[in-house]
Amino acid sequence: MGHPLRARCPHVTDAVVVGSGPNGLAAAIRLAQAGVAVTVLEAHDLPGGGTRTTELTEPGLLHDHCSAMHPSGVVSPYLRSLPLGEHGLEWLWPEVDLAHPLDDGSAGVMARDLARTAASLSPDDARRWERTFGPLVRHFGDLVDDTFGPILGPPAHPVLLARFGLAALRPATMLVDRWHDDRARGLFTGVAAHFFGRLDRPLSAAVGLILTAAGHAVGWPVARGGSRAISDALIAVLASYGGSVRCGVEVKDLAQLRDLTGRAPDLVLLDTSPASALRILGDALPDRVRRSYTAYRFGPAAWKVDFAIRGDVPWTSPEARVAGTVHLGGRAEEMVAAERATSSGAMPDRPFVLCGQQYLCDPSRSAGDLNPFYAYAHVPHGYTGDATESLIDQIERFAPGFRDIVVATHVRGPSALESYNANYLGGDIGAGANDGRQLLLRPRLALNPYRTGVDGVFLCSASTPPGAGVHGMCGFHAAEAALASLG
Ligand SMILES: Cc1cc2nc3c(=O)[nH]c(=O)nc-3n(C[C@H](O)[C@H](O)[C@H](O)COP(=O)(O)OP(=O)(O)OC[C@H]3O[C@@H](n4cnc5c(N)ncnc54)[C@H](O)[C@@H]3O)c2cc1C
Repeated sequence: MGHPLRARCPHVTDAVVVGSGPNGLAAAIRLAQAGVAVTVLEAHDLPGGGTRTTELTEPGLLHDHCSAMHPSGVVSPYLRSLPLGEHGLEWLWPEVDLAHPLDDGSAGVMARDLARTAASLSPDDARRWERTFGPLVRHFGDLVDDTFGPILGPPAHPVLLARFGLAALRPATMLVDRWHDDRARGLFTGVAAHFFGRLDRPLSAAVGLILTAAGHAVGWPVARGGSRAISDALIAVLASYGGSVRCGVEVKDLAQLRDLTGRAPDLVLLDTSPASALRILGDALPDRVRRSYTAYRFGPAAWKVDFAIRGDVPWTSPEARVAGTVHLGGRAEEMVAAERATSSGAMPDRPFVLCGQQYLCDPSRSAGDLNPFYAYAHVPHGYTGDATESLIDQIERFAPGFRDIVVATHVRGPSALESYNANYLGGDIGAGANDGRQLLLRPRLALNPYRTGVDGVFLCSASTPPGAGVHGMCGFHAAEAALASLG
């Protein structure tokens, strides 16, 4: 399987990227832009990692298997530099980006328009919301520059980063106390729950702050036709530089790459978990890196259910009926307790549930009066029970009658998620726990976290900075490190 470019020009540097998630594809494109002959090897039959979309339930219904909303895709400095629009990627925005309904039928709302958010909150809380997020929204581009890469370098905007850092270092629960009404408190806590960990621990405010600021700055859009449009466009850009993707090849060790390509590639980039890197690199890994990769921790899991529904979800809250994303968890205190339970290995009665109504702004995903409805619950790492009923109960709580419109379901719990994608160990869709220092320093404390310590081999997955999300920045930075290693 030698790369054709290599066959024509033996002096050309060649690279194999293992894994075709957004980070693997971004890494491949960056290398190909620099003239490297790149082949991407993917274990699954379909490329795209977390950005696959297929008919999971009924013919014609397009379901996003994993990623659904893409604030980080829109702001990613590297993805923005690529001509993805020319290759079919089109972002679509729902009327309201996020609704957080409460039991009384009211809801906190996050919209690109801060005024619409303010209108959903009490006047005092609206003022405090603007004071918290206004400055971050106004300088959002600068904030992205300083947070979408390794944090050990000098920041480009130290004052802004210091201001963000002071709030981000705190527990989410401390920040929540800025607001008094359940709508604002619930709204922020639901976004903070994307941290997938204890919300009363330091640093747990970081994810909520950046995702809320992103919501006001650029929204939480979806890709027309499904998230696979992102990987399709990335693969087309890669092809324009001569690179290619080969599916159905699970890489187990470095020797396999030699067998496949006829020689050891000059560069290998692993869009894998540190656990897979341990297996692939074997004894070649230096002891200190082996120890760090072995100690790398995975966090709570997702329980994903895709529904085919007839008509729309009968939300009690009118705002939820027009929202792309709906967070279910009720009051802030309830979500804090649920996240504490899942983090300590216990399944809460009422888990935090995230719902996606991508079809509202993208009717191309529906068929007649059948619509694809997306949901996942937070469950403990490696959870072996069945969370489907708890998840549906949470939806029924805020949308009585939901059960009656369900036509079909497709369920993936933690072990199914892990077999589907080896990077989601124990069902952890964030490619590693966010607790302790792992949110910032992943997969290990190192000036260059992309290096594996094996010559020419780099880690480029979401287990490296800046972590989970469809932005390709882990892949971009890893490719830069690989190119720098060539001198
Ligand atoms: C249910 C769910 C919901 C999500 N929602 C969102 C969202 O709304 N917005 C968002 O931005 N992000 C979301 N994410 C997270 C996002 O999908 C990931 O952070 C992102 O895809 C990570 O990209 P990656 O390239 O690092 O890895 P992945 O996308 O996981 O891709 C890794 C690829 O490598 C392949 N691979 C692994 N090991 C091997 C091997 N040994 N040989 C060959 N191939 C291998 C895998 O099969 C996979 O295709 C979600 C994830 C899940 C699962």
